[in-house]
Amino acid sequence: MVWIVKLVSIGAEDEEHSTEVMRIAKPGNLTDLASLGLTLAEGKRLLAGVQREIVAAQARVHAVHRPACRGCAASYRIKDYRQHALATLFGQIAVRLPRFHCARCATTQAGVGWPPHVRLTPELDRLRAQFSALMTYRTAAEMLAQLFPVDAGTDPETLRRHTFKVAESLPVPVTAEPAASVLSALAPAMPSRAA
Ligand SMILES: [Zn+2]
Repeated sequence: MVWIVKLVSIGAEDEEHSTEVMRIAKPGNLTDLASLGLTLAEGKRLLAGVQREIVAAQARVHAVHRPACRGCAASYRIKDYRQHALATLFGQIAVRLPRFHCARCATTQAGVGWPPHVRLTPELDRLRAQFSALMTYRTAAEMLAQLFPVDAGTDPETLRRHTFKVAESLPVPVTAEPAASVLSALAPAMPSRAA
């Protein structure tokens, strides 16, 4: 049997737009339990596919907004498009956003409301810090990659640096390793290793 997973978006005027996300092929009998339902790999591909489609649609809507020039208040014209790479819990995505130009003032502005130096979503940022607080950086990186279609930002050295950065922003002195109290503050919702 073959299933086609489709995403249907509904626009402002109830118009529907359908996109194929993934095809799943499975045997129709249950003699092999390993073929029952989705595997982890299929689940990760599905999440990554849905994430890609939703982000692409959000970027298309976002790109329609035209800011007014700060200098003369005229509407900016589109100069060109830039890809912004971003790591999310459900995979690396690329957001295509326009840059704007005002001919009168000879100024250029990046996409509306897009933070210029952000490389990952707040959720992935937080989850990475929580995982790194509970286990070694290498294990945290491996575990994230095992469970989620995270294909960026799971390098142990990056996780280590990041956890120290978050720990340093807390009002507790940090020495060689983040103190247990700091780490538990970073991961309040997760059970501690000692429990
Ligand atoms: Zn202007």
